[in-house]
Amino acid sequence: MLSDQFGRKVNYLRVSVTDRCNLRCRYCIPAEGVSLKKHEDLLSFEEIETIVRAGVGLGINKVRLTGGEPLLRKGFSELVKKLAAIEGLEDLALTTNGILLGAMAWELKKTGIKRVNVSLDTLRPERFNRMTGSDQWQQAKEGFETVLAAGFEQVKLNVVVIAGYNDDEIDDFVEYIMVKKAQLRFIEFMPVGNHHWKNEMVLPSKGIIERINQKHHIVSLPPLKNSIVEEYQIVGSPATVGFISPMSHSFCHGCNRLRLTADGFLKPCLASKYEVNIKVPVRAGHAGNELRRVFYEAMRLKPKAHKMDQGFSDNTRHMAEVGG
Ligand code: SAM
Repeated sequence: MLSDQFGRKVNYLRVSVTDRCNLRCRYCIPAEGVSLKKHEDLLSFEEIETIVRAGVGLGINKVRLTGGEPLLRKGFSELVKKLAAIEGLEDLALTTNGILLGAMAWELKKTGIKRVNVSLDTLRPERFNRMTGSDQWQQAKEGFETVLAAGFEQVKLNVVVIAGYNDDEIDDFVEYIMVKKAQLRFIEFMPVGNHHWKNEMVLPSKGIIERINQKHHIVSLPPLKNSIVEEYQIVGSPATVGFISPMSHSFCHGCNRLRLTADGFLKPCLASKYEVNIKVPVRAGHAGNELRRVFYEAMRLKPKAHKMDQGFSDNTRHMAEVGG
């Protein structure tokens, strides 16, 4: 089992499979654009599989595929099949902006993805255009509705709430999720990898809960093991609303995750510059136990806590490279 100097156990690896994205969300990708990695600098599917196998040998049992936009990576389903075949990997999940899901959801269901999070920050097409630089709102929304229909074990709609951008849509999202009888998650805006963040743009979850309760009634559910989400039931509906509050509630003491960047670095904390190169050893033909050292090194560097509540992150990568 991977454990760090503060006694935290890590069993969850988030894998960014590409730094490319088909959206340009203003809060995620810097306005001046980003320099993308060359294809040969990205981990191949075989390399990702080797690294995940090494992690599973150390107690990783949950992997989430993210990006950039993971569904843009050519042959993505092939990667999923390779990972789904790893014995000991119990949970294979996906985070996507949904745009390509309409076409891929049913196929992905067959390959071994169990849970899907779709990121959609607005229910207004013209606002989506402004926030993302894309007119594909309809595709994104239909992508979410297609995964719901496809019957995955779990599907969630993720919304980053940014004051002055989309905080006037909180009730609209609650009402939409009630109609869909599904799960919604509001995420606090983090100062990671962008120069756009300002403290006054963060809307703490407590304020969102108060706002929802003015019109609807939500009640707190018992906390799930190893979960950073505070979950609420919408009274009178099977739908739920969860809150991820990295800014207002430090949950670092329960952090159970490492991240793998698309270009092959293990990152112990989203808000930290620390990372360890695992691409060089994996390209040198190392596998299994030989890669343990790299995982241990990442665990050694895992900070006790981030300081995002003070607006601080020294992660030099933008979010799309790390995968959120
Ligand atoms: N393209 C995929 C998607 O849109 O879900 C996966 C990558 S995206 C970087 C993962 C998640 O990070 C998205 O839900 C996005 O909204 C979120 N995200 C990006 N920048 C963020 C920030 N500064 N604070 C909070 N969440 C952020």
